[in-house]
Amino acid sequence: MAKIFCIANQKGGVGKTTTTVNLAAGLAKVGQRVLMIDLDPQGNATMGSGIDKRQLETTVYDVLLESASVAEARVTAEKCGYDVLGANRELAGAEVEMVALDRREKRLRTALAAVGAEYDFILIDCPPSLSLLTLNGLCAAHGVIVPMQCEYFALEGLTDLVNTIKQVHANLNKNLQIIGLLRVMFDPRITLQQQVSEQLKGHFGDKVFDTVIPRNVRLAEAPSYGLPGVVFDPGAKGSQAFVAFAQELVEKMPPASALAAEAPVPVAPVAPVPMDPPTVTDQVPESP
Ligand code: ADP
Ligand code: MG
Repeated sequence: MAKIFCIANQKGGVGKTTTTVNLAAGLAKVGQRVLMIDLDPQGNATMGSGIDKRQLETTVYDVLLESASVAEARVTAEKCGYDVLGANRELAGAEVEMVALDRREKRLRTALAAVGAEYDFILIDCPPSLSLLTLNGLCAAHGVIVPMQCEYFALEGLTDLVNTIKQVHANLNKNLQIIGLLRVMFDPRITLQQQVSEQLKGHFGDKVFDTVIPRNVRLAEAPSYGLPGVVFDPGAKGSQAFVAFAQELVEKMPPASALAAEAPVPVAPVAPVPMDPPTVTDQVPESP
């Protein structure tokens, strides 16, 4: 059975989509069978996997409204090595259309049950809000991977997310837990980032992944070629970090059956601590 993880953070632009597509490609690279689900109407994860969202006839929208099964709506991202359940602007309408429907938070969960045996990992790219779409992701998942930049306000956003996850855990999905926090766009030259990174480890301990994703321009360039960085430029520092992260995840995760056994209530909220303003030390050029 697949391990199902949401990549979520209520902030926008923190690296959710970059993490989703590169982790999917990294997992595929280390031999895992992966389905990537785009739950954001912007369709960035779809396009970033080389699937033209405007050409898609069936998407996750049809799955949520039960006019198509996952098996019917998914496509294979040939160059990336994983399957994609894509999204486009139509998905924004699902939000409204689902409100009146029964089991409206559990539609994705129900649909995924039919394909769980075909994959090792199912990754869900969530939109930057606590919408009905995100709730569908959280209800379907065993856990949440939280990409975060090591900056002061990141910790405040985390408090909101942790509270949301607690509520979903209490009311909708007893299996849901925080799988881990992934430090992304990391720049070790910035003292504040090092401080926040240490603070995260102090507070969340082994819930912080060992792998750190550096700020790397190749990861930012890759989507314009319709590829995850891991496929576009496997030698880039950022790509190597995502493959290392995929390996870390494979090694750390127990089987899905163990993940699903009544997960404990997730970690406590964070109290943001005032810190010194950021200082940039040397202007070292970024490694390719
Ligand atoms: P989100 O999905 O949370 O909105 P994105 O993954 O789209 O965030 O990332 C926001 C922007 O940051 C994008 O332009 C992306 O290319 C860039 N980006 C993400 N991760 C990195 C990284 N490690 N290094 C450099 N740029 C990055
Ligand atoms: Mg995104």
